[in-house]
Amino acid sequence: MPVEGHDAGRAPAFKRILLKLSGESLMGSLDYGTDPERVRKVAQAIKQVSERGVEVAVVVGAGNIFRGMQGVASGMDRATADYMGMLATILNALPLQDALEQMGVHTRVQSALTIAEVAEPYIRRRAMRHLEKGRVVIFAAGTGNPFFTTDTAAALRAVEIHAEAVLMAKNGVEGVYDDDPRTNPEATLLTDITHMDALQRGLKVMDATALSLCMDNRLAIHVFNMDDERNIDRIVSGERVGTLVATS
Ligand code: UDP
Repeated sequence: MPVEGHDAGRAPAFKRILLKLSGESLMGSLDYGTDPERVRKVAQAIKQVSERGVEVAVVVGAGNIFRGMQGVASGMDRATADYMGMLATILNALPLQDALEQMGVHTRVQSALTIAEVAEPYIRRRAMRHLEKGRVVIFAAGTGNPFFTTDTAAALRAVEIHAEAVLMAKNGVEGVYDDDPRTNPEATLLTDITHMDALQRGLKVMDATALSLCMDNRLAIHVFNMDDERNIDRIVSGERVGTLVATS
């Protein structure tokens, strides 16, 4: 049965994608934590593309709960604070998993930090098998290493599982701009850029470590506005949405 709101006639442009959800994208209008309504909307968007036969892996951030640098600002050791940040991603992975399962989508959470009672450990081949079986795999705890970000986890996992593209969900912006659109109303949206361009110009795609990993592996990045949940389905349909970062 066709799923409402997408071009059911068109075959998906990707077989396997990695969706990076920042903590902020699960926060909705709250100041902190996860907004259940927002999580449901995100889950619905994931379900929609999963039902089209696209294999979906997700990396979740934790900026809505805790970032290592917050701890550092209050005098904590960076590594300890980063481990707290990684644990916080698990607090985002679980409500997303729950929302998906309640919609009938089969999921697995794989964590880069061992927390056996709540999530599988990250095992690459196992993750790929889950994806082949149509399960949505949520990668939690970033890379498992301090001094990294969940952007880097997204790039790393995407390369490891042979995802064809990274979908970088942003909030409040349509993609990548030549300047900060929140402070400069003249900032213009860039629809096509190369990885090198983004790196050299310091454009806000993802952090530099993550971006160079994508560049080295010629992994395309679609940066889009998650405020419109249909955007994931549009990108999967091959529509041009937001900014495409690619190197031919
Ligand atoms: N983090 C880490 N290593 C990783 C991924 C994340 O140490 O591989 C920590 C880091 O402290 C980071 C926090 O987890 O600030 C939350 O991740 P991030 O800031 O990337 O979340 P997002 O901005 O996507 O919400």
